[in-house]
Amino acid sequence: MSAATDHFWMPFTANRQFKANPRLLERAEGMYYTDVEGRTVLDGTAGLWCCNAGHGRPEITEAVSRQLSQMDYAPSFQMGHPLAFELAERLAQIGPSGLNRVFFTNSGSESVDTALKLALAYQKAIGQGSRTRLIGREMGYHGVGFGGISVGGMINNRRAFGPLLPGVDHLSHTLDIERNAFTKGLPEQGAEKADELERLVTLHGAETIAAVIVEPMSGSAGVIIPPKGYLQRLREITRKHGILLIFDEVITGFGRVGEAFASQRWGVTPDILTCAKGLTNGTLPMGAVLVSDSIHQAFMTGPESAIEFFHGYTYSGHPVACAAALATLDIYAREDLLHKAIELEAYWQSALDLLKDLPSVVDIRTVGLVAGIQLAPDAQGPKAYRVFTQCFADGLLVRASGDVIALSPPLIISKEQIDQIMSLLAKAIRSLG
Ligand code: PMP
Repeated sequence: MSAATDHFWMPFTANRQFKANPRLLERAEGMYYTDVEGRTVLDGTAGLWCCNAGHGRPEITEAVSRQLSQMDYAPSFQMGHPLAFELAERLAQIGPSGLNRVFFTNSGSESVDTALKLALAYQKAIGQGSRTRLIGREMGYHGVGFGGISVGGMINNRRAFGPLLPGVDHLSHTLDIERNAFTKGLPEQGAEKADELERLVTLHGAETIAAVIVEPMSGSAGVIIPPKGYLQRLREITRKHGILLIFDEVITGFGRVGEAFASQRWGVTPDILTCAKGLTNGTLPMGAVLVSDSIHQAFMTGPESAIEFFHGYTYSGHPVACAAALATLDIYAREDLLHKAIELEAYWQSALDLLKDLPSVVDIRTVGLVAGIQLAPDAQGPKAYRVFTQCFADGLLVRASGDVIALSPPLIISKEQIDQIMSLLAKAIRSLG
């Protein structure tokens, strides 16, 4: 006889280990999950970096339910519905200036593949068809599509699936614990790493490079915050050589670092920006790609009857997801949540000091309402996973990736809840012995 746990092949999970000791969540409200045993768990990660306005927001539930009864689905090709146009306009308004065109997807991975295809198609459209190379970065995470894992730089996501896209290079990552341990905000050192792009341009020729993609702040690789001046330098070099710059803001979008997008916090505007997660507060799958007017314009020169960009998804701009996203953006605006991370930043950073001197903690990186707590490597396997299981047992959800514990709580968090996260986490780290 098969058990209920025999059939679901869980993503990014050690399934056999999980089945021996399952963690099953059943309810969510505000800052808390409740598991199937009725235990309350403080959400230190906004789900998977997505529930920025906290859980169970009735405004979103009502908007989704209203839209489902009004119109459940509309074909997305050669047909539209008003909410998708309204949402695109709202995103253009809150996004970096000049990124006024919006393409809808259903996830971060789809946003990334859309952005890469758009970059290649744009170069062709302007007569630069020799520009086919894509440049990503070591330790970058850009989802799980073939495009995303090709430009991505996390070995476990790539090694079983080759060969990947040809003509891809990677810049070095910017993590430099030796020089920058325990930096609050942007590290002072490392901007020169962006100059490596000049080296790749010299090696391959600018006329072969279509685009560079980076997360302005890497999340999944363990919270890597860009050194001061790094993103600016990438922008200068890409602009000089006619290379497009893509920011993957799937994690940093929607207030995580204190502005709608990291691009605005750090004053660097890419040509293309990907987002997802916080767009619907995690309630329904949806992503978006914000595109510059000039890229869009390059596709608008052919005959009016021609399809400009041969790309799209059955669920692009799904009406129910649009309703969820519009209700989410209303909450963000009404509660000024997109600026909350700046408001709480100083408190958050000093609360993190509680962890600084604990054994095993070798670095803490933080900006906005994000933190990466790096633990010393351990021959018995990553300590971070042990901390994660201990925290969960104690009623706190944190995220373990490699040797790093990542924190990214909903932006509605109170100072008392920040303190609670730090004391539960400190207890779990201490228990490592
Ligand atoms: N890009 C980045 C920067 C991400 O962090 C993620 C997900 N964590 C993705 C892309 C992929 O998003 P999804 O899982 O929605 O496909």
